[in-house]
Amino acid sequence: MSCADVLALLTDYLEEALPAARHRVVADHLGGCPACAAWLAQVRATIAALGCLRDGSLPPSVLAALRHSFGSGAVGGAAK
Ligand SMILES: [Zn+2]
Repeated sequence: MSCADVLALLTDYLEEALPAARHRVVADHLGGCPACAAWLAQVRATIAALGCLRDGSLPPSVLAALRHSFGSGAVGGAAK
């Protein structure tokens, strides 16, 4: 599983909406990939800030911004 795959599944992962096997694959990747772990923390912080986890989804604008940042190489560079 690539970092982009993990990012695509990240919100479902946080909402525990993934099948158990898929959830485990994402968890394994996050455990071994500092860049994705940093993203997970950032997404969690964003969700907490917006208080929207209860609604079961992130606003499309937030998802788009996260994916755009990820796709433009922020992970591994800007991620600390
Ligand atoms: Zn990764």
